[in-house]
Amino acid sequence: MDRYAVIGHPVEHSKSPLIHAAFAQQTGQQLEYGKVLAPLDGFAATVAEMQAQGYSGANVTVPFKFEAYELATELTPRARQAGAVNTLSFVGQVIRGDNTDGVGLVRDILHNLQFPLQGQRVLLIGAGGAAEGVLGPLLDASLATLSVVNRSVGKAQAMVARASAVAVPLVAHSFDALPGQVFDVVINATSSGLSNERLPLPSGLFATDALAYDMMYGRETPFMQYAREEGVARIADGLGMLVEQAAEAFYIWRQVRPDTASVIAAMRAS
Ligand code: NDP
Repeated sequence: MDRYAVIGHPVEHSKSPLIHAAFAQQTGQQLEYGKVLAPLDGFAATVAEMQAQGYSGANVTVPFKFEAYELATELTPRARQAGAVNTLSFVGQVIRGDNTDGVGLVRDILHNLQFPLQGQRVLLIGAGGAAEGVLGPLLDASLATLSVVNRSVGKAQAMVARASAVAVPLVAHSFDALPGQVFDVVINATSSGLSNERLPLPSGLFATDALAYDMMYGRETPFMQYAREEGVARIADGLGMLVEQAAEAFYIWRQVRPDTASVIAAMRAS
């Protein structure tokens, strides 16, 4: 039976095994999907061991997405653009690296939330691995403008500078530049929710009928509370993105596209 796993540190909390088990059952695919805790200084050795054991592929989570990018012997264009890898396929000695986070976010917004991105003014908050992963697919979604803000503004500027031949107006700035600006979609790609910290966001940031999207899932974050205080009606967490990025990885490995709506609904119910 084909074997896959999510590699991380920590990894115990990962919902990926549950999601892939649901996909496998739904599509009749025979596979095993587990969790592998790699030592912080032992990502490459863990991958080599998994290849030796006959694994077919792996998902990669915190903090190894950049190391996975370095380790891959082949990269898809979207992984190259992101500079980070969350999906590995082992084909003989080849390690193929892909990044499905961005397509997962865009599919969740367009198909699950039924919120259009075309022609919208979008604010992306954060310049870490998650933000890097979604920048390219957002730029491909025919936005009106894309602004990136980050606490360490140099990281946002470097991220924007790496995006080449962009048709969408793309700017990077600090939180200080936000007062007076208005956006149709605001995406929180920071980990501030993990530490329950409030972002320095001004009042009046959201257009009428705007979407506030937090990539974190599992609980109400200070960003979601802020959006509620601002009167935003459409507030989403990152559970749909999580399931959609997994579905894309499943498709890469199995060439079968699972139904995601039923899996998202089941996970919300539990
Ligand atoms: P990283 O550690 O790579 O980046 C963290 C980012 O958050 C940086 O931009 C950092 O800014 C910013 N940040 C952290 N704390 C604060 C704060 N108090 N105020 C302002 N900015 C802050 O993390 P990732 O990019 O990998 O992950 C970010 C979030 O996205 C996590 O919550 C993660 O769970 C979620 N995620 C969700 C996914 C999904 O499928 N739903 C997929 C991937 C990630 P600075 O550069 O200044 O330090």
